[in-house]
Amino acid sequence: QIRVQSSMGPAMKTHLPNRQPTAVAPDHSADMYPATRALDGGLRPDPMTGAIQPGISMSVNNVFTPGGAAFSADGAGDLTDLPFLYARWTNPTVRDLERRLAALEQAEAALATATGVAAVAATFLALLKSGDHLIISDVCYAGAYELATRILPGFGIEVTPVNLSNLDALRAALRPNTKLIHAESPCNPLLRLSDLAGLAQIARAAGVLTSVDSTLATPVLTQPLTLGVDLVIHSLTKFMNGHGDALGGAVIGRKDLIAQIRASTGVYLGATLSAHNAWLILRGIDTLYPRLRTASENAMVLARHLEAHPKVLAVTYPGLASHPQHALASRQMALPGGMITFQTADPEAVAQRMAARFRVMHYAFSLGHQRSICVHIGTEAMMQSTYHMQGESLADYKRFAGEGVFRLSVGLEDPRDLIGDLDRALAE
Ligand SMILES: *Cc1c(COP(=O)(O)O)cnc(C)c1O
Repeated sequence: QIRVQSSMGPAMKTHLPNRQPTAVAPDHSADMYPATRALDGGLRPDPMTGAIQPGISMSVNNVFTPGGAAFSADGAGDLTDLPFLYARWTNPTVRDLERRLAALEQAEAALATATGVAAVAATFLALLKSGDHLIISDVCYAGAYELATRILPGFGIEVTPVNLSNLDALRAALRPNTKLIHAESPCNPLLRLSDLAGLAQIARAAGVLTSVDSTLATPVLTQPLTLGVDLVIHSLTKFMNGHGDALGGAVIGRKDLIAQIRASTGVYLGATLSAHNAWLILRGIDTLYPRLRTASENAMVLARHLEAHPKVLAVTYPGLASHPQHALASRQMALPGGMITFQTADPEAVAQRMAARFRVMHYAFSLGHQRSICVHIGTEAMMQSTYHMQGESLADYKRFAGEGVFRLSVGLEDPRDLIGDLDRALAE
């Protein structure tokens, strides 16, 4: 006997307070297998309409419930426990995304932001103050690195870039005023890894917080919080949304830390994610696991092809036995992922031929989309614009990137078409 969910009827007729997913059916995310969380973690059908797919709430403000918590809000508490007041704090659709992100990373809470860089900025500026010391990976997303090295020192924050694939270097860089260690694994653009469990252990022993930009890994490959890291940061613009049509970012972790970030920089930086982008990203996340599986499979095929190609000097891919940290990759990454770098002679000519001859790939910046994207990143140019390295750190950069790499973000096309494009571009 099929019984229609009749409780919906009376519920629809009453004047409901603010829609508040936290008050709905119990959340079984913790008992789900990881791939199921991408579809069902953290959210249940809309309690007012029964809609299975999340809707978009574009409203900037929501009415106060008579006698509700909003009347006693002083702005200092955890704003995620309050009904929706004003969309810069949060919004029903953005909240839906935050709940899904928290479920995916097996975390208590998440703060969504307008971009990945906004999530990094919100984290740094909420957790660091004048006199504090930040240790940042000496190779990480250029926007994060430049924010740390160009802007933070002006606020009296000491910043030390460290090769975080070397845990001894991390230990040596710790100071009594170190408050945060920011890592990225695999790091962009080298695809060099950090041992996150080892890093977290050192940080905890020293009483220092850790944030890891896990944009290239996604929760499909690595879940840093389960390795002891305090905060995970994503550019949702990349693999998480995966369709190249929305900017977004997030910081994910313990409820008290996320509340602290939301109540300060989350609100005051004003880099709020739009409800429309939150909805697009939620929709993108539905297919996160199958997309990453296909991208990883395709990337493995291309990495092997490139490694055997006479015009290719070197390939870096965590799935290849030739990756300098292949053992760590096998331990820390469930799949090798969709990012490859490779080196060729005369990269300028190869880049020109890519732009002219690609049929399915695109010669362009960015990564993590459904379509394959490739771009050259010259080492000298990166040193001048961003990293300014010398000595040992420069040597380690060149160990992975030589004088420059083609960074290839592998999409969902048939790998035979992708091989065709690469071969056409590599042929003189
Ligand atoms: C792209 C990227 C970012 C920045 O994300 P935006 O959404 O463009 O601000 C941060 N970290 C990594 C690793 C990235 O690839």
